[in-house]
Amino acid sequence: MSDVSMIIDGERRAAPSTFGVVNPATGAVHADAPDCSREQLDEAFAAAAKAFTDWRKDEGARRTALREAAARLAAAADRIGPVLTAEQGKPLKAAQMEPLAASMWLKYFADLEVNREVIQDDARAYAEVVRRPVGVVAAITPWNFPIVLSSWKIGPALLAGNTMVLKPSPFTPRSTLLMGEILAEVLPPGVLNVVSGGDELGKWMTSHPVPRKISFTGSVATGKHIAASAAPDLKRVTLELGGNDAAIVLDDADPAVITEKLFRGAFDNNGQVCSAIKRLYVPESLHDDVVDALAARVARVKVGDGMDPASELGPIQNRPQFERVSGIVAEALEGGAKAATGGAPIDGPGYFFQPTVLTGAAEGTRIVDEEQFGPALPVIAYRDVDEVVARANATMYGLSGSVWSADPDRAAAVAEQLDCGTAWVNTHVALGPHQPFGGFKWSGLGVENGPWGLAGFTEIQVQYRAKR
Ligand code: NAD
Repeated sequence: MSDVSMIIDGERRAAPSTFGVVNPATGAVHADAPDCSREQLDEAFAAAAKAFTDWRKDEGARRTALREAAARLAAAADRIGPVLTAEQGKPLKAAQMEPLAASMWLKYFADLEVNREVIQDDARAYAEVVRRPVGVVAAITPWNFPIVLSSWKIGPALLAGNTMVLKPSPFTPRSTLLMGEILAEVLPPGVLNVVSGGDELGKWMTSHPVPRKISFTGSVATGKHIAASAAPDLKRVTLELGGNDAAIVLDDADPAVITEKLFRGAFDNNGQVCSAIKRLYVPESLHDDVVDALAARVARVKVGDGMDPASELGPIQNRPQFERVSGIVAEALEGGAKAATGGAPIDGPGYFFQPTVLTGAAEGTRIVDEEQFGPALPVIAYRDVDEVVARANATMYGLSGSVWSADPDRAAAVAEQLDCGTAWVNTHVALGPHQPFGGFKWSGLGVENGPWGLAGFTEIQVQYRAKR
């Protein structure tokens, strides 16, 4: 039996069977998680549907409960952190930051105003546009930021008056289950149900008759399956999918000034960030200086078990991803790219990979065209700004991008030509609960966060009172 439980109708529940959860720092199963049965999923959706009747009625009670939930999460950072590190691999400090950030997100939504807009007030009628909850939400999350990304869904969905069944990735279920246990102490039964299982459980959720909305964060391929699965029932969907973000350095940038931020933008969480820098374009005149500065920074990184306080980066999160990154880098090197630093897996148990900077990789190779989602960054030379903008946009991804320059106005003029959901200047991956986040093209459908994200968990209703 697993030592963490699912939450169904406010109660801790084991499942008929469990599955093993691997610690990526060792490559060995370190603990179990419940494998939710179909009947239990039915129970979870039934509990959410039942709870919806009352939960939708009292906005004040929802705000109070969300504030309490935020406080509990912040207080549990030291409990959730080690559970997250053991299954996800990230350094303990970063793991402890997740419940703290999630707490901030819940608090933001607890305080966010839900607008009523008067659209007519004349002799004929008084009409308002109001937001109504959609109903039960099926929420599905990935393995890179299990706690933070759950809070992006829980906060707005619950504030809007919806109830939820949440499923974390089978690679990182335990931290979310623990979070569910903690939040069950302050949320009414059925409002937030947490179940765990494999991809099949996700499919059952998205084809289940009860949920009216699917909120999904994960890969493009799964996002497309989910959109298809939602279509026959016209379930609402928000899809936060993958990215292949370009960062473009302009010729007046100072490599010494931008190196640390470029490093963080590309390598934080081992590059396993949807909006990480995945292609770095630099002018020919600066190419060698940027590569040297970045490679020197990357070569200093201490990679190791996330429980070791000295580790700056942990392992890649799972074996398939480790093999994918290893394959993509090996293929680039075979195709003529050079490793300015790194370039290979690290010997020993666990899914450790040398943080890698590649030069000489071009469009047409997987490291440039696909989402590597790992600690390997291609640096690509360009000649002309118009040409590089076209190259940055020549992809079906469109999550985010950035432009780097000593002149922020000049950079902004280039950044606004990027076809993506967030265009940063002189930074990358700067996010906040007030800031809508989503992707163009295959990177997503709809946005999360801010009032725009909240709106995604609502239906518009016109309330129209005739005056004559
Ligand atoms: P994934 O798509 O493999 O899995 C995500 C979740 O979907 C998991 O919980 C999984 O069990 C579930 N799932 C898998 N198949 C399903 C199906 N057919 N129906 C329903 N559910 C299914 O993604 P991943 O590998 O866990 O995460 C990495 C990807 O997530 C990357 O592409 C990354 O860019 C993306 N991501 C996007 C954002 C964003 O906000 N845009 C944030 C983080 C990660």
